[in-house]
Amino acid sequence: MHKVAYGTEDIEFKVAFSDRKTLEISVLPDATVEVVAPQEANLERIKQKVLKRGYWILEQKRFFMSLHPYEAEKEYVNGETHFYIGRRYRLKIIEGSASSVKLKGKFIEVITPDKEKTSKIKQQLHNWYKLQAKRRFEERLKVNYNKIKVEGIAFPKLTIRVLHKRWGSCTKHGITLNLNLIKAPVYCIDYVIMHELCHLKVPNHSPAFYRLKEKYMVDWKERKLVLEGVR
Ligand SMILES: [Zn+2]
Repeated sequence: MHKVAYGTEDIEFKVAFSDRKTLEISVLPDATVEVVAPQEANLERIKQKVLKRGYWILEQKRFFMSLHPYEAEKEYVNGETHFYIGRRYRLKIIEGSASSVKLKGKFIEVITPDKEKTSKIKQQLHNWYKLQAKRRFEERLKVNYNKIKVEGIAFPKLTIRVLHKRWGSCTKHGITLNLNLIKAPVYCIDYVIMHELCHLKVPNHSPAFYRLKEKYMVDWKERKLVLEGVR
């Protein structure tokens, strides 16, 4: 493992060498950083490249860690980063008797009776995400369903809950979406919805399933990579 200092943060990265001509930096789904470099590249040059892309790497790590179903415990304090529809917001916690959660510019503003009571703030945010997810996922489900309904699929029942290992799942009665998906960009939300809608026609991951998915979402692979933090 190698390391460079970027501002106040360290970026740790692994290097693999290959016969390729260009250097590629990826942030993997587990938020680790991997560099694939040409055989002749030296470590100093690689470190410079990593530094040059430092901002992007840290953004990507934060983004991925916040999306990850095993998201690190948040502290629910002022200034903390929380994602909503692919955008980064900071928490602004204000004490007040009328509890509420609102988006205000780059902030998620939480009005709460007691700033120190983080379990209450966590609950307020969870409820807010759930409310937004219900509205946004239903809207996206309709849009995507309209594209694929010619396949003779019945409009599915939608369930939203925190899933620990997957973004979505489905049964013959309907589809379930991971609440944390509300933190991802719309085109990733659409990707998961379309994947599950295709399963209503083809339940397994056979070639027929992929043909169907390709037909209704030609760029699904790119969307998947973004969702997994590997763009
Ligand atoms: Zn599947």
